[in-house]
Amino acid sequence: MKNRIQIFDTTLRDGEQAPGFSMNLQEKVRLAHQLELLGVDVIEAGFPISSEGDFQAVQAIAKQTKRATVAGLGRAKKGDIDRAWEALQHARHPRLHTFIATSDIHMEHKLKKTRSEVLADTKMAVEYARSLCHEVEFSAEDATRSDVDFLCQVVETAIDAGASIINIPDTVGYSMPWEFGELVRTLRERVPNMHKAILSVHCHNDLGVGTANSLMAIRNGAQQIECTINGIGERAGNAALEEVIMALKTRNPEFAVETGIDTTQIYPTSRMLSEITTMEVQVNKAIVGQNAFSHEAGIHQDGVLKNPQTYEIMTPNSVGLTSNNIVLGKHSGRRALGARLQRLGYELSNEEMNDAYEAFITIADNKKVVVDEDLISMASKGFRMNGSAGSHVKKNSSKPAAKQTGSHPGGVSHMNTSFTQESIYEYFNRP
Ligand SMILES: [Zn+2]
Repeated sequence: MKNRIQIFDTTLRDGEQAPGFSMNLQEKVRLAHQLELLGVDVIEAGFPISSEGDFQAVQAIAKQTKRATVAGLGRAKKGDIDRAWEALQHARHPRLHTFIATSDIHMEHKLKKTRSEVLADTKMAVEYARSLCHEVEFSAEDATRSDVDFLCQVVETAIDAGASIINIPDTVGYSMPWEFGELVRTLRERVPNMHKAILSVHCHNDLGVGTANSLMAIRNGAQQIECTINGIGERAGNAALEEVIMALKTRNPEFAVETGIDTTQIYPTSRMLSEITTMEVQVNKAIVGQNAFSHEAGIHQDGVLKNPQTYEIMTPNSVGLTSNNIVLGKHSGRRALGARLQRLGYELSNEEMNDAYEAFITIADNKKVVVDEDLISMASKGFRMNGSAGSHVKKNSSKPAAKQTGSHPGGVSHMNTSFTQESIYEYFNRP
């Protein structure tokens, strides 16, 4: 049997605290419902002591979530843990998540605590959380910049105190994939009670390796991945759920693990988050960007139409997109144009296709993307409709050749088509 990786989604906590991504109560509840549909194992709903809004959101999500575990975050302080528990207590599956920093720089400058004080706080916080909630997760903040021996000691203490999930965050996105994999392996080998807890990771994307670090962690035995939809989160964001999941799925034999994610809900979830926050993902974003399944280069379009696997390592359907997006533009080939015209109901002879392609290239030179409406307008000026006995493409010899060829240096080699430069320009220069 394959190892099951738990997916811990922190879109509503780490993601929501990033500038521009704040959501109101109704929006958070709506997204939480979608996260359940997506199949995440844990929804981190907020940081209840940080604000009244966070408290209410965690409480509402805790009450309404049916299958997933709902986590609430709190520092290693009784007040934080009490407030988190107050919000979480009605959840079907509650999880208290507490944390303390373990790197020298954080302990000295932020916490102003010694290593032994941090060890004592770890024990106190986890024991206290366990007295309230059956499931406790402990995070060692800034773990990747912590002294490894000390980190092992803290983790051992937290497990002894009753934490059943140990999370290793690369809080500042500093670690390189090989180092991070090594750290996960070291913890598994050196912490004597590590087998009593689930080992989790939480990677940030400051150097663009949040997903890579998460995957290296899985290869080295991590059992829970903390991530966010569209990779949102503090600064450059967190490891993106969609990237981690599709890497695990597309390269499954490499990982031999499974998750509970329904990948066809990835795109709908991504869109919902963008709509709610009015923050679009970059067009070339892996998996969910507008161009992620688009093909414009003619040679690519030809390949994809013959067999999608020529240029696609995963299908658009697998992430919930209805079809790959063949964008018609000046790099498109005849085949892509023919396929689109056919879908629109036009059947062209070879000769007509030549004329249509020339006209199309002229349009594409003047307009970045050629949409269906453009093709229909082109076709209405001379294409034969599918099944009809309509006329062939009309010759138009009345236009002076010099005028036609002169305005378009590339593409159009002969102009005996009904798609004159004038009619095309007239059409596209409409207000
Ligand atoms: Zn984080």
